[in-house]
Amino acid sequence: MTRILITNDDGVFSEGIKLLAEALEPLAEVTVVAPDREQSASGHSLTLHRPLRMRQIEERTFSVDGTPTDCVNLAVGWLMKDAPPDLVVSGINFGSNLGEDVTYSGTVSATFEAMLLGIPSLALSQEVSEHFSFEPAARAARTIVEILLGADLAADLLLNVNIPAAPISGVRVTKLGRRTYSQSVVEKKDPHGRRYFWIAGTPEWDAEEGTDIYAVTQGQVSITPLHLDLTDYRGLESYDWLTAKLGGLAGGR
Ligand code: MN
Repeated sequence: MTRILITNDDGVFSEGIKLLAEALEPLAEVTVVAPDREQSASGHSLTLHRPLRMRQIEERTFSVDGTPTDCVNLAVGWLMKDAPPDLVVSGINFGSNLGEDVTYSGTVSATFEAMLLGIPSLALSQEVSEHFSFEPAARAARTIVEILLGADLAADLLLNVNIPAAPISGVRVTKLGRRTYSQSVVEKKDPHGRRYFWIAGTPEWDAEEGTDIYAVTQGQVSITPLHLDLTDYRGLESYDWLTAKLGGLAGGR
């Protein structure tokens, strides 16, 4: 029996996760474990300083009062302990997860956790447009998962998939793009005259060819393979000047 664990960061009652579960149910035994409320931009956050509660909503659907990372942990480490999932699928997120934004993304972080637990995973995000629909992403999810389940997958496979709002013109394996404009801070005053802030702003992107953002702007499904090694490999030797200067630390107390 092939088993799929589905989670997300938009919450267990979101439309995207419901359509994803429906799309994958013909392919495998699907278990849904997802946050009880929206956890978008929760990143790879793990809850360690308070107890977590899991609630059964339907036969194979459970909510957790925590983050997507908590959900994957509780599912793999407890609920599905004796019959672990063959694949973890996170989404379908309402909105793209492109470029450096994957570090904020709860959707993608759920798959980071799957990777740490040794389970291949897939994150799915649907670009938002005026006439929004999860349907293109749900269709793509079914096709991609069907292919993946028939393949010999590496345990650390993580594919970050973004589906364009425009009609799909193709599929591209991409690298992460870069944001050229980050959030701005909006300052306001409360009724007591005290300052408060909103982190806001519309991101702008460097649409370099070969990136996830470029593919999505071209109407292509973007598939970015990710890993968790954040080391800068452009040349560890380029830091020799630093180790030379720090030589005095040796033998220090
Ligand atoms: Mn979200």
